[in-house]
Amino acid sequence: MKICEVIVDIAHSDVDKIFEYICEDTVKAGMRVTVPFGRRTETGFVMRVKSESVFEKSKLKQIYRVEEGSLPEECVSLSQKISARYFCPLALSLRLFLPAEMRSGKVHEKLITIVSLSGDPAEIPPRAQKQRELADFLKENGETPAPLLRERFGGAVNALKERGLLSFQEKSVLREPYKRAEGEDVRPTLTEAQERALREIEKTKKQVSLLFGVTGSGKTEIYLRLIEESLQRGKGAIFLVPEISLTPQMLRKLRGRFGNDVAILHSRLSAGERYDEWMRLREGSAKIAVGARSAVFAPIEELGIIVIDEEHDGSYRQESAPRYSTAEIAKLRAHYHNCKIVMGSATPSVESFRSALAGEYQLVRLDERILKRPMPEVKIVDMRLETRRGNPSPFSMHLRESLRECLKKGDQAILFLNRRGYSQSLICRDCGYAAKCENCDVSLTYHSEENCLKCHYCGTKYHVPRACPECGGLHFGYKGTGTQRVEKELQTLFPSARILRLDNDTASQKEGHYKILSAFARREGDILVGTQMVAKGHDFPHVTLVGILDADMSLHFSDYRSGERTFQLVTQVGGRSGRAESPGTVILQTYEPENYILRFAANYDFEGFYQNEIAIRESMSFPPFSKIVRVMAVGETEAETIEALREVYGKLSLIYEKNREKFLFFNRMRAPVGRIQRKYRFQVLMRLLDGSVLKDIYEVATSAKFKNVLIYVEENPANLN
Ligand code: ADP
Ligand code: ZN
Repeated sequence: MKICEVIVDIAHSDVDKIFEYICEDTVKAGMRVTVPFGRRTETGFVMRVKSESVFEKSKLKQIYRVEEGSLPEECVSLSQKISARYFCPLALSLRLFLPAEMRSGKVHEKLITIVSLSGDPAEIPPRAQKQRELADFLKENGETPAPLLRERFGGAVNALKERGLLSFQEKSVLREPYKRAEGEDVRPTLTEAQERALREIEKTKKQVSLLFGVTGSGKTEIYLRLIEESLQRGKGAIFLVPEISLTPQMLRKLRGRFGNDVAILHSRLSAGERYDEWMRLREGSAKIAVGARSAVFAPIEELGIIVIDEEHDGSYRQESAPRYSTAEIAKLRAHYHNCKIVMGSATPSVESFRSALAGEYQLVRLDERILKRPMPEVKIVDMRLETRRGNPSPFSMHLRESLRECLKKGDQAILFLNRRGYSQSLICRDCGYAAKCENCDVSLTYHSEENCLKCHYCGTKYHVPRACPECGGLHFGYKGTGTQRVEKELQTLFPSARILRLDNDTASQKEGHYKILSAFARREGDILVGTQMVAKGHDFPHVTLVGILDADMSLHFSDYRSGERTFQLVTQVGGRSGRAESPGTVILQTYEPENYILRFAANYDFEGFYQNEIAIRESMSFPPFSKIVRVMAVGETEAETIEALREVYGKLSLIYEKNREKFLFFNRMRAPVGRIQRKYRFQVLMRLLDGSVLKDIYEVATSAKFKNVLIYVEENPANLN
């Protein structure tokens, strides 16, 4: 008998400590166990196994049993580091390593019943025609799933069973996501530039390499080679992408090269699929984990490399506790396994590029597209002139002409607009009333397909009012264009064009994105209209025209990152054009043609943009020259929320008073979106020179306990709504 130290799976600071139990000698750190806990039964994680305890053995209880889904031992130390870094209970950190369905215990292996012949068919009387057919079928085909037989032979199955001629057996089957994503392995010879980049990455002693390569420079092939080398050394790999369902070609490439060694982890899989993919990694029958940010926790025992593709992407930050940054977790894992991290992007984040220039990361460049294909030419169109010319449509004359030509040549085009729905809002022409959500402080978007108004924050749908609720007026106007409207107007302009649309509304089913993108890849569509989903790493060789309908839309958010985001978006969307033999064009429509961010993007001048941006950040003391921290209070009623925030603010003020020199800003206020999903939102906003008071801030927030108000901390949040 041994003694094990257990963290129970309850995410509460009161029980965030070690409890000791007696266990069998076979129990190991990382295992999940069920234990008696007070009067209840709880599951928990074994953190350590030892022979002695400071407690008397007779006082300790025994564990009930070991559960399926044990974690690699690495997770024990890693979870401790995560809890220390993000100030959260250990149970929360440990949960990150386990798919939710495993914890619930509701999903298990999938078993099906297999039938085979086990006696002499000669015993079947001649008149039992169906039974004879069934026996013949089994003789010919061998083991067959029971449901299939029942469907074909109906009652004959039971009849033969009663004669004792059939044997039934339970067999486990794998639920394999994206089965159709089978691809052949096209293995190009590396170009000189790729060879050089690969060698540089292999040679460096630095833990992190930043692969800064323009769109279409062949970064993917470099990742694949690095993963391959890792497998050859007998080690596994993690390949992170912003959203796997958005990159079917990537999946096909991976499956083509590595076959069943690839396991896919992402939230749109069914619970059963996720369970099986996780188990395949855990048992080592798959060695490469591909997925969005949570795949950084993949249960791989020996890691050889971690790849983070499109490292600038906002989805790499988790927006619920613990609010981890994927790169930070990757660094912890890489340190443990002594392996490399390769981050790649055509538009690295300002933070990462700064680390690379400072020599903290290795900087590896790919300055040209594959086979020296030219970058698409970017034409900036001044939409103010279009308005003056009396063109009210979302398409400039120039874009219209280019689309016409593109279609005539039989090429494909992508149109990007960062707003879904038909129009941004429904406005009363008489009094100016704009329809608002009852649960959130935001206006509603009109959706023509369902003829309703939708809230993009909480998803609530509303009927379109017949009369204005404010003034009774009957004249409504639609303000602002969305993807549905673009699709409709496009169809009117080009009646014979086949148009596909990709946004949250068209892609809501499980493999919705995948289906639309695959159809476009098969050239079943001429024009793809969509939101930022169309910008994500796609490689469609026949796209020669990209239209950015409203490049200004993201420029004026009250967020220090809005310039950076606009630059990334324009570069990434534009980068989808002209990736194969035919050169491409990008048409960038804007009401601010002289804007410097758009100018840098049009000239593919990332470094110009970066120098300019970092100078602004420094002069304004924005990140990375400071840290933006906000403590949120989110509650049921306005009064309770304000009261809770007042209390928290009081405690934070003590920290502020003691450390004034470390604060650039400290204040409390209503959050910019004051209510979401019926919850009131208030905040204490801070800008800190360094992270030295973070611990105290987290302590205040985690010790604050209110019945109806949730308090939490965000660091450099992706959005400041
Ligand atoms: P990036 O990720 O840098 O935007 P990709 O990896 O998608 O670029 O590569 C762009 C295109 O070039 C793809 O179609 C890819 O198949 C092709 N490609 C990559 N490497 C080579 C090579 N060595 N020879 C020929 N084509 C290549
Ligand atoms: Zn709402």
